[in-house]
Amino acid sequence: MTVRVSLGDRSYDITIENGALDRAGELLAPYAARGRFIVVTDRNIVPNQLYRLETALTAAGIASAVEVLPPGESTKSWVMLEKLTDALLSYGVERGDTIVALGGGVIGDLVGFAAAILKRGCRFVQVPTTLLAQVDSSVGGKTAINSKAGKNLIGAFYQPAHVLIDPTTLDTLPPRETRAGYAEVVKYGLIDDAAFFDWCEANGPKLLAGDPEARAVAIAKSVGAKARIVGEDERETSGRRALLNLGHTFGHALEAETGFSDRLLHGEAVAAGMALAFRFSAAQGLCPPEDARRVTAHIAATGLPATLQAAGVDAGGATLVGHMQHDKKMEGGRLPFLLARGIGETFLDKQVDLAAVEAFLDAER
Ligand code: ADP
Ligand code: ZN
Repeated sequence: MTVRVSLGDRSYDITIENGALDRAGELLAPYAARGRFIVVTDRNIVPNQLYRLETALTAAGIASAVEVLPPGESTKSWVMLEKLTDALLSYGVERGDTIVALGGGVIGDLVGFAAAILKRGCRFVQVPTTLLAQVDSSVGGKTAINSKAGKNLIGAFYQPAHVLIDPTTLDTLPPRETRAGYAEVVKYGLIDDAAFFDWCEANGPKLLAGDPEARAVAIAKSVGAKARIVGEDERETSGRRALLNLGHTFGHALEAETGFSDRLLHGEAVAAGMALAFRFSAAQGLCPPEDARRVTAHIAATGLPATLQAAGVDAGGATLVGHMQHDKKMEGGRLPFLLARGIGETFLDKQVDLAAVEAFLDAER
């Protein structure tokens, strides 16, 4: 199926199809300027998925140069950005060339940013290979690298020309990574689609076990929701796009506390963050306790952390709120929080009292 992202005067398509990678020659041919692509990927993807793309392109008579980077969050750095842009320039990249980002969020964010600044903007195509990248980071045009001061602080809004999603690439993804990406799937149900949360409760375990049908349905639903929200608010100015940050303020504090390390993956932090946001909303009398209980139960049932303890975080409220104050969404001393009136009914609250958050987190410890 195809989902269109409409952004005022521009738009691009997202193809979601089991086996799309093996048809990349045909599906991506319109973007192959001068009969070639420059593909950027990471070392873990080479043995698992790169050959599928290369085989498909070769069969279609499209040449490809491949640049392989090391895997992991540390690749989203100034050093790697320089290496990558130097390598792309040495291939003689021109504006009309298309750079293909084959990988997870790390590759997508770095390559998207490189494409945004190379020759003031080269065409690029996203081929996401993690569930997180397929349902979230490959759609919407946020590109970035990390800096000493924090994650994703240097970047640009830069939209891809196309996003090609093949859910079968997840067959080789480690289960822990799939589970972490699933947190962002559940997020779409919690934001504004209670029926989709019901679907997640019924089908989440099947999806995580690798059921191709359930996987494709969840990806299509998530991408559709993200495309709609991004179409309404491309640059996060109206507050609509901010809904996508559900669970991310609590989650960010947990990631900061665990040093943004493999101890707690981003999706795991978001899972715990969403459960905390619902329990905080219930504690504030905004949301029925039964809804907070359901959210907590579903997250825990999928093997994701739903509590501070399960996230491996042993810190008090003051410490965690301290981390939140470094969030890039801080605005004049206030931190906008996404709270819930129920499942599928979240809203942005700009007036949350951080002392109440601190007391809540102390009680959660
Ligand atoms: P995210 O998409 O969550 O931001 P990364 O880009 O860091 O995450 O990818 C997570 C890990 O999974 C990395 O080690 C990456 O090399 C690896 N990886 C990505 N896609 C696949 C895949 N389809 N098969 C196997 N490993 C993969
Ligand atoms: Zn996220």
